[in-house]
Amino acid sequence: MTGESGDADGRGAALGVDEAFVCAACGRRWYYTRERCPDCGGAEASTYALGEGELLAVTVTHVTPPDVRSPNALGLARFGDVRLIAQLTDADAAPGDRVTFGGAHRLRDGDARRRPRLVAVESP
Ligand SMILES: [Zn+2]
Repeated sequence: MTGESGDADGRGAALGVDEAFVCAACGRRWYYTRERCPDCGGAEASTYALGEGELLAVTVTHVTPPDVRSPNALGLARFGDVRLIAQLTDADAAPGDRVTFGGAHRLRDGDARRRPRLVAVESP
């Protein structure tokens, strides 16, 4: 296992980028691929779609490593018990906005691997 989800290699290849895990033994939920539950050590887990989450915090970095976009908007989002940090598609997104986690974007120019981003959900 690679410890990453949605990669072209490893177990993540079969997973959707928005899929998280729930432990069969204790119900703990997490996002990134793990061989065992971080709480109880159980080896059985099933997957489920993250669905819509809530954006908790936003930050924008203007000084970024070579090949990483600048400005680079990052968000911390909560999907039930799962929290994750990722690039934001919409730099104008604000805490409290509803978001999904998906798509396939390059973190760095020339990077073969693509990563999902947090995407603001349009208000009805
Ligand atoms: Zn567990």
